[in-house]
Amino acid sequence: MIIVKIEDLKKGIVEMFIPKRIIIEKDAMEYEMARQILDTFKNNSDIEIIYLDSNKFKQHIPGDDLYSWYRESKKSLVIGAKKSLKFQTCKPSAHYQLPLVSGCMGHCEYCYLNTMLGDRPFIKVNANIEDILLQAQKYIDERLPDVTIFEGAATSDPIPVEPYTHSLENSILFFGKNSKARFRFVTKYNDVESLLNLEHNGNTEIRFSINTQHVIDEYEHFTSSCNKRLEASIKVAEVGYPMGYLIAPVFVYPNWKEEYHSLLLKLRDILPDNLKYPVTFEIISHRYTMTAKNRINQVFPDNQLPMNEEDRKFKYGQFGYGKYVYPKEDLDEIKQFFYKEIEELFKNKEVKYII
Ligand code: SF4
Repeated sequence: MIIVKIEDLKKGIVEMFIPKRIIIEKDAMEYEMARQILDTFKNNSDIEIIYLDSNKFKQHIPGDDLYSWYRESKKSLVIGAKKSLKFQTCKPSAHYQLPLVSGCMGHCEYCYLNTMLGDRPFIKVNANIEDILLQAQKYIDERLPDVTIFEGAATSDPIPVEPYTHSLENSILFFGKNSKARFRFVTKYNDVESLLNLEHNGNTEIRFSINTQHVIDEYEHFTSSCNKRLEASIKVAEVGYPMGYLIAPVFVYPNWKEEYHSLLLKLRDILPDNLKYPVTFEIISHRYTMTAKNRINQVFPDNQLPMNEEDRKFKYGQFGYGKYVYPKEDLDEIKQFFYKEIEELFKNKEVKYII
């Protein structure tokens, strides 16, 4: 029986997501992935297995209020199939989202999923991976001769469920054979062993989301430690994957420059000199929507997130909702700081964007 201790999760020792309940949507069992997941957990009597005869699963997740429902949802694995195969666009990191997983076991207070997936915080895996990759091929063909980029972590962190979904593995192998497509995903976890020996042919970029210890201690829960993420980043880079870092969200707080400088310095010191591809950087300053703020204040009532509208600037967002970003002076300072630091500290690098 697999037993997960909460203390281990907090220390970042256990990375695989072990659900408290598995909810299986109607018809999902026709897919191999669903059967494999059940096989993985069949001897764990602590896990409740719920078969649905409709696709209404929310009532099977207990919780009298948002606070407890959120926590129970984060322990729930829904196995379903992606019915609508119309992929969402995914600016600025890719052309399309690849819909493998939605939701995440992490409890990061600032998480962007609080806006995107506010009422769906549970982890849902799409078992019809073959259909999804076939659809990806159609999008690739439509854009020929241009290369099409797919993002695998737009609505999730796919690594904690990878040991039993193999969705990343299948996607990496699929894109590895496709010179006109690229795949990328980002993670705050470190369990990348199963991806190291795959034939990726440099077509998949793996990025690691990192931050200062202050930000991690203050706002992230149930994620891998920063050191473990860094170790994993070196492993994937050493087997030839294009690799990068997402530093997000960047907060302006006392000593932020010193602490982000130390983080970058640490990266510089651990990165091997002979990497095949430039290390990429994506830097995203903290922003929030009112939807997220309202939800975060219910789910994490003691949070210390800087969400004071008077200190922020309102900006219309890509999906129709406005967000509160740092004012121009702070943003300029963030941009200047990171461009200069990265330029000075790294030789073989590419800054994709700082926003
Ligand atoms: Fe959100 Fe990423 Fe944290 Fe998961 S690990 S809760 S996706 S920020």
